[in-house]
Amino acid sequence: MKRTLEWQIATVSRIKPETAEVRTLTLALPDWTAHRPGQHYDVRLTADDGYAAQRSYSVASEPERTGEIDITVERVPNGEVSPFLLDTVVVGDRFEVRGPIGGYFVWDESVGGPILLVAGGSGVVPLMAMLRHRAATRVKTPARLLYSARTYEQIIYGPELDMLASQDGFKVSYTLTRQQPPGWKGYGRRIDDAMLAEVRKPLGLEVVAYVCGPTALVEVAADGLERIGLSADRIRTERFGPSGT
Ligand SMILES: Cc1cc2nc3c(=O)[nH]c(=O)nc-3n(C[C@H](O)[C@H](O)[C@H](O)COP(=O)(O)OP(=O)(O)OC[C@H]3O[C@@H](n4cnc5c(N)ncnc54)[C@H](O)[C@@H]3O)c2cc1C
Repeated sequence: MKRTLEWQIATVSRIKPETAEVRTLTLALPDWTAHRPGQHYDVRLTADDGYAAQRSYSVASEPERTGEIDITVERVPNGEVSPFLLDTVVVGDRFEVRGPIGGYFVWDESVGGPILLVAGGSGVVPLMAMLRHRAATRVKTPARLLYSARTYEQIIYGPELDMLASQDGFKVSYTLTRQQPPGWKGYGRRIDDAMLAEVRKPLGLEVVAYVCGPTALVEVAADGLERIGLSADRIRTERFGPSGT
């Protein structure tokens, strides 16, 4: 029987910089249970005076990796928790976590596909767990990722996504909304209906869509997916931040 809502003490066992403002923490868990890709953990940090702050972080890793999970944290300027996880935490540090949590924004073979993944910024994290799981289990479900970042340097997991895209049945399309490098061949604007339609087209209309990122992006993309013909019950969303971000 799973005891997913009990707090346990995670130990940071590895730290990997992803971009200038994003890093991945590997957390060793004494009471590990397999998550469903898309689920998250709550992290609780408690100061010496007892003040505690709690935030949610999606699992980035695939459930085939036992005993540990990766979380990938993006800095929210002046935030309470994310700057601490980026600047202060070192290997060997311990803090409380509980999870895995969430039963709606999840994908595995039982959900089927094809799958259309739409991410803004660190919204790519739970989608990466789905793609890593898909690769680890060699499931052939056709998948596409439309990933919006401000600049090329802010793309998280870029080399791994490109490697996964060299395998069967998965393609990634990037859109860089603020600045594009010379010779850029991807999109260079905010997500719109025409872009969603192009990315969706090879998958057909019977796709299951997962949209994750800042609230504003999630709303534009989810509404757009309906406008281009997907039924609402095929669109699953997860919002990471306040609207307008
Ligand atoms: C289910 C779920 C999964 C999540 N997974 C991830 C993940 O994998 N990686 C990740 O980096 N974050 C993730 N988040 C967001 C995370 O929980 C925190 O909200 C984020 O790290 C900011 O916390 P903070 O304490 O640094 O900022 P806070 O102190 O909470 O906020 C500081 C200021 O920034 C604003 N703000 C808060 N969040 C955001 C945001 N996301 N974008 C812009 N402004 C914001 C606040 O309104 C406030 O004004 C997830 C959120 C949810 C609900």
